[in-house]
Amino acid sequence: PFTLSARAQSLKPSATVAVTSRALELRRQGLDVISMSVGEPDFDTPPHIKAAAIRAIENGRTKYTPVSGIPELRGAISAKFARDNGLSYAPDAVTVTSGGKQALFNAFFALLNPGDEVLIPAPYWVSYPEMVALAGGVPVAVPTTPEGGFQLDPDELAARITPRTRMIVLNSPGNPTGAVFAPQRLRAIAELAQRHNLVIVSDEMYEHLVYGAQHVSIGTYAPEHTLTVNGASKAYAMTGWRLGYAGGPKAVIAAMNALQSQSTSNASSVSQYAALAALEEHEATARFIEEARSAYQERRDRLVAGLNALGLPTPTPQGAFYVLADTTAIHPDELEAARRILDVAQVAVVPGTDFAAPGQVRLSYATDLATIEEVLRRLGTLLGG
Ligand code: PLP
Repeated sequence: PFTLSARAQSLKPSATVAVTSRALELRRQGLDVISMSVGEPDFDTPPHIKAAAIRAIENGRTKYTPVSGIPELRGAISAKFARDNGLSYAPDAVTVTSGGKQALFNAFFALLNPGDEVLIPAPYWVSYPEMVALAGGVPVAVPTTPEGGFQLDPDELAARITPRTRMIVLNSPGNPTGAVFAPQRLRAIAELAQRHNLVIVSDEMYEHLVYGAQHVSIGTYAPEHTLTVNGASKAYAMTGWRLGYAGGPKAVIAAMNALQSQSTSNASSVSQYAALAALEEHEATARFIEEARSAYQERRDRLVAGLNALGLPTPTPQGAFYVLADTTAIHPDELEAARRILDVAQVAVVPGTDFAAPGQVRLSYATDLATIEEVLRRLGTLLGG
């Protein structure tokens, strides 16, 4: 009787999960596997944020909250959008979700009709096309190249606009490319959205993790066209707390709230109070972010230099905590290359296959420098150095 729905059957199992389970299996066999595949900070959640959560539990903040989040948090997010991003979203134009992932999911379900085309710069985070397709939309990849620093070319975008195009998904700083889109490009993309009446969903999850580049919110150029998504996971090392949020036109936020009211209700009350502290105790949070940011930058520099020296061409990304390395020197097929890196060097990386990054694998540098050195040593051995 348990025939899976067409929807469930259409879901692609994530390549990240496949690598992680193979790595776990090798570990169970007693092998010393290093994971470079994770998408989360290795830092602990800062103490002032944890303390606020403990206080919330002790004070009985353990009940349902409004679907869109506690008013104090929506107020703090509204203030954050204004302070950090120059965006004006009133508190009732903001909603709080169980992770940025749910904000994106709700947005696609609130906005897409069957057959609506959604432009997604590639290489992309695997969940965008999957979520878009689940919502009935049609993902359309817009290629970017390592030689071009994975910058999105507005002309490439324009060339793929059809009468069915409804939306553009942007992720800057980006996973897996680390690309930070230059302001003049964002401005040109915003103009395209205005000219063709498109929605921009801007995923700014990695906004604080930039190295010498400036993060600009595209919503400042096209406020009537942009839904901005963000969250606590990457900025405050809070992946397990599941706390995300979005700001956008009130009618869209209301539709997202309606969807959420029939699915998950509200984000965890305790996580909401923790996120409130992260935003309100702004100076302590800013110190944490800067510490993490400069550590990531040092790791990025070491990893990129090391990979290039080994003959695995790797552009220097300006943001997030990932690099895409060209592994054709190991094997022309990235799945095979990732398998060899795992089986021979015992390093878990993610093949670029599902990111639309052929011939490349993704390594996360959310790990300490000593581990990065060891990974480079192992890859050197694999390459016969
Ligand atoms: N967006 C991007 C680009 C991501 O890489 C991730 C997490 O890996 C998310 C969104 C979702 O983050 P969360 O649901 O933990 O807020």
